[in-house]
Amino acid sequence: MISDIDELKRLWHEPLRLFRLSNALRQKNCRDAVSFVINRNINFTNKCIGTCRFCSFKHDKTYFLTHEQIIDRAGEAEEQGATEICLQGGLAPEMMLEDYCGILELIHRDFPRMHLHAYSPMEVLHMSRNSHTEVKETLLELKKSGLGSMPGTAAEILVDSVRQKICPDKLKAEEWRQIIRAAHLLGIPSTSTMLFGHVESLEDRLSHLMSLKAIQLETGGFTEMVLLPFIPDNNLLGKMAKGADLLDRLKMHALARVALYPNITNIQASWTKLGREAAAAALDWGANDLGGTLMDEGIARNSREAPSILAADLVELIEGQGKKAVQRTTLYERV
Ligand code: SF4
Repeated sequence: MISDIDELKRLWHEPLRLFRLSNALRQKNCRDAVSFVINRNINFTNKCIGTCRFCSFKHDKTYFLTHEQIIDRAGEAEEQGATEICLQGGLAPEMMLEDYCGILELIHRDFPRMHLHAYSPMEVLHMSRNSHTEVKETLLELKKSGLGSMPGTAAEILVDSVRQKICPDKLKAEEWRQIIRAAHLLGIPSTSTMLFGHVESLEDRLSHLMSLKAIQLETGGFTEMVLLPFIPDNNLLGKMAKGADLLDRLKMHALARVALYPNITNIQASWTKLGREAAAAALDWGANDLGGTLMDEGIARNSREAPSILAADLVELIEGQGKKAVQRTTLYERV
């Protein structure tokens, strides 16, 4: 277990040692098993009052999915064997807590076995503000409506000086931590994420990882860590930052594995952000999960990959890397 910042910094500058150590820890944790989930992302609206400089999702033509469209998509997902629906959207100013609960109830009513993985801490804060409800009460209402777990997105880098540059109007680092802690303590697990490769330093990345580790030690509520390399296409931040190169991206997965071990043991490589080949390569740099099939994913549409992948293709990527593919649920149980 390495949580000494200086040792982690030294490791970063010795890629071969970092590579070996991350691989050894992955092996120790899950041998050659690499997991994935069959899920569908439903981005119910792209209307957003946010100003995140890395986002191009909200700049497309504004839409709102109707309840009928949402149910149709959930039905198609079930037909294709999905065990999870992931719901995220823009911060539409007119959406109240009851609207967010309504979407969960709608899907839960028709597909009661489907795990609902929904609403980032930023969305939770947005609906709390709009409906003048305390965060804790908001989370309880969501849970009552069928919420199973939350995406730990909107974390970006949990350092306010960095947030000021990339997403000045988003919730502050401490607000993110408080909402995630509150969710975990109410029995709502979440993923953890990190958006890297823009204006942050190595120290900022390490501070972010240590923040997540501290929360995990307190609550045990993180299911995994998802590394999200910044994609510089079609957004304002892309004019200031060109994104991390491949080695930096691979090393970041390895660093997360080492820094978070043994507290967060699932490290996810995002095929939508990395591209399929690089995501497969990350399986040799500490990652043990390739995320979900998604079936469409609005927020990642500025990435270079098609926003959907077949489960069979994920299995092929995993096996091509000499690993054993395992279908999992959102909470990492084997299917
Ligand atoms: S990242 Fe999310 S909150 Fe930020 S501008 Fe885009 S849609 Fe809005």
